[in-house]
Amino acid sequence: MQTPASRREFLAASSVALLGVVAQGDPIIDIHQHLGYSGRSDEAFLKHQRVLGATTTILLPAGRPANTASTNFGTANGLQAQALGNDACHRFAMTHGAAFRFGANDVPDLDGAAEEIERYVKRGAVVIAEQKFGVDCDAPAMQRIYELAQALGVPVLMHWQFKTYNHGFERFYRMLEKYPRVTFLGHAQTWWANIDKNHSDQAVLYPKGPVTPGGLTDRYLSEYPNMYGDLSAGSGLNALTRDEAFTRDFLTRHQDKLVFGSDCSDVDGVGPNCQGAQTIAAIRRLAASRGIERKLLYGNANRIFRL
Ligand SMILES: [Zn+2]
Ligand SMILES: [Zn+2]
Repeated sequence: MQTPASRREFLAASSVALLGVVAQGDPIIDIHQHLGYSGRSDEAFLKHQRVLGATTTILLPAGRPANTASTNFGTANGLQAQALGNDACHRFAMTHGAAFRFGANDVPDLDGAAEEIERYVKRGAVVIAEQKFGVDCDAPAMQRIYELAQALGVPVLMHWQFKTYNHGFERFYRMLEKYPRVTFLGHAQTWWANIDKNHSDQAVLYPKGPVTPGGLTDRYLSEYPNMYGDLSAGSGLNALTRDEAFTRDFLTRHQDKLVFGSDCSDVDGVGPNCQGAQTIAAIRRLAASRGIERKLLYGNANRIFRL
């Protein structure tokens, strides 16, 4: 239990940390946020990003709502989080200056999906995301997304979640080989659980404890120059914190391949309710050098998304 004294110390430390971020002025790119996230208002979102210290934020839209097998019969609408779509993200970015950029998205097998995505990339979208649909990762509709990414010169960010979103993680290397000029970013539970070579039960989405290097995710990052990792969400934070000795080495080995994102829907932007703030703290604690920290919080995203 926390005593009043330690609570005061905690609050004092939080204020210092907060002032530190502002005074330090190190730019941070948050590559993974959503508008309307779990009903959060734009005002609360703006404050969240300011308190978090994000100097640039990429807004990832949902696809158009649809009742199809590919949306798990509507479950994936709003990215299962009330996230708003292309038009809202584009408008918000246009009216809030250079601090906000946006992605383009759609349900891959809807009629006109390619045209919808292309329209928003031509308006300035920097990524096709967030691809979070109940489809095979090598389905013809997904391969049209990869071809589009290649033609338009933007990365694709995919939410990997066993038996729910983007099926076939174990054979994704075929897509990495077939589309070598496309930059792919991996995100979510199945992506992060598979840093561990001994991760055998794919139904376990947030595995804890020691990590043995050489899991499928570790290998994809090592062996494929076009595969990158998005550190956002509870899954990213869990992966960073479950075995800190592993993490130091992992961040060093993949220092040019990993990017910070928050993907949290809280209104605080700091403290125990904010996953993004904890992820930034974990990166600062576990990066083996200041140079690696800056790559993960800023440099890699700046390069990958051509910001
Ligand atoms: Zn996601
Ligand atoms: Zn947060």
